[in-house]
Amino acid sequence: MRAGPAEECGTKEAFERDPQRFWHHYLQLVRATAEVQPCGAHDALEALGKLRVLITQNVDGLHRTAGSHDVIEHHGRPDILACLACGSEREQKISELSSAPMWRCGEIMKPSLVRFGDALPRAPWARAEELARACAVCLIVGTSGVVYPAARMPVLAFEAGAPLCQVDLEATGLTHTGCVRWYVQGPASPSPSSGPELLTWATLD
Ligand SMILES: [Zn+2]
Repeated sequence: MRAGPAEECGTKEAFERDPQRFWHHYLQLVRATAEVQPCGAHDALEALGKLRVLITQNVDGLHRTAGSHDVIEHHGRPDILACLACGSEREQKISELSSAPMWRCGEIMKPSLVRFGDALPRAPWARAEELARACAVCLIVGTSGVVYPAARMPVLAFEAGAPLCQVDLEATGLTHTGCVRWYVQGPASPSPSSGPELLTWATLD
């Protein structure tokens, strides 16, 4: 079977093997998703006005677009380009690129994304762990909770004494372990089922 754009740029080796080819496919993907905007769930989280920090594995940047200021993106930021040869970095709107971006040293730059085979960036990971251990409440929203090590965040918060609130369409492996104090079954965006509960959170101190 012929690999699609996602497979062509989803691994660590894809860039190393052929950076030009990587960018060709990556820019195709970016163009195909250019119209995607934050949904009600992104907006609802920001509207709570209670979030100290938002930890996500998403790489679409939509939480930042929705106005969340302190976002720890475990799987990196595609709009930060890095040169693997000299370590230089620059911010770049990927949708404005028409070809592989080059740094002054002549090397093709790579988006700072975590792909299969990559190690997680250490600094955001360490900060996320520290904040999970220190949080007053840990809100778990719309995640399968199975991708480690990020799935460990709620466990760290629970072990440190924070109550966990989970909002999800379906129960996950975490829901009935005894860690989750409140489970709201439903969408994270405002709705008859999840709206009132989430608003309750907004009034908690
Ligand atoms: Zn360089």
